[in-house]
Amino acid sequence: MGIKILISPSRYVQGPGALKFLGEQIKHLGEKAFVIGGKTAISQTQEIIKKSLEDQNISFKFETFRGECCDSEINRLKEIAVSEKCDVVISVGGGKVIDTGKAISALLKLPIVIVPTIAATDAPCSALSVIYTEDGVFDRYFILAKNPDLVLLDTEIIAKAPARFLVSGMGDALATWFEANSCYQSASKNIPGGYSTVTALKLARLCYELLIEYGEQAKIAVEKGVVTPAVEKIIEANTLLSGIGFESSGLAAAHSVHDGFTILEETHKVYHGEKVAFGTLVHLVLEDHPWAEIKEVLDFCVKVGLPVTLSQIGVENPTPEKIMEVAKKTCEPGMMIHNMPFPVTPEMVYNAIFAADALGTKYLNEISK
Ligand SMILES: [Zn+2]
Repeated sequence: MGIKILISPSRYVQGPGALKFLGEQIKHLGEKAFVIGGKTAISQTQEIIKKSLEDQNISFKFETFRGECCDSEINRLKEIAVSEKCDVVISVGGGKVIDTGKAISALLKLPIVIVPTIAATDAPCSALSVIYTEDGVFDRYFILAKNPDLVLLDTEIIAKAPARFLVSGMGDALATWFEANSCYQSASKNIPGGYSTVTALKLARLCYELLIEYGEQAKIAVEKGVVTPAVEKIIEANTLLSGIGFESSGLAAAHSVHDGFTILEETHKVYHGEKVAFGTLVHLVLEDHPWAEIKEVLDFCVKVGLPVTLSQIGVENPTPEKIMEVAKKTCEPGMMIHNMPFPVTPEMVYNAIFAADALGTKYLNEISK
């Protein structure tokens, strides 16, 4: 028995029009905000953010993010934040700008505020940045000393983004419960290096239940750009529940299979959460889940539009050699798949990938009849 650790953001704010409350929510954090975001995110939010900060007498400096979370961009932005004497960082947008802001704030020891404009991953709440090279190749994980001081989601903005982002976030969130449960069964350590609390495990379970109950109707609503109670629940599941679930319970096969597939160029146009959804099917096959459970996941994926076959994640010609390369990458030392409650070999992953693809294909054929 070791120690259990649960970590989470200090404050989580979510709702329609929440961005108007940004200034009020951060006035105790700093006096001059360094606001970074991509062009689209900034143009959508700048006027509201400015007014909200001005109302609280917080001054600001806006800077456009150049698109990659890499060392050169982190250093460039860090220098601007220092020369402008900013004392709080605000990241506005998707995963990469969120991770960049988290890295800058960690290096400068400043508070960090996350304002996601899409709910496509569970990155916003975590104390982790994924650093890439300038060409967008995975470089390393940067484990941060603390989670964000505030995560603020304006659900009106998120509901107006393309539905594929929210669906992809559901794919990332779909893995959370199964990976958390595998880590719990195997007594594996979570991201901050402790054992999972039952709290984190139950939050991961709640995440899964909300997806099954509300995922499809949330998707239909955001296709119309509107916020409903179901949309609110799914944004919370994708961001808060999946965030705490993965970080404080741990990752396992589903994400490792995702990482394995990233060696195939043809899967790069498929979003993180979409590949994780297929990785979840592989996880279930590998762990010998009963058909009823696999069918529930297949049914969910097909209803919301997540991939269930190799061709749907971009792999058109799955040769044995190619899939064995993926399986080997998936099982490299240090990969999260070794958190499964049993030893995993590349052969087992290879078999589970083809079996998952066959189940997905059969399911799609059956429902199209
Ligand atoms: Zn993920």
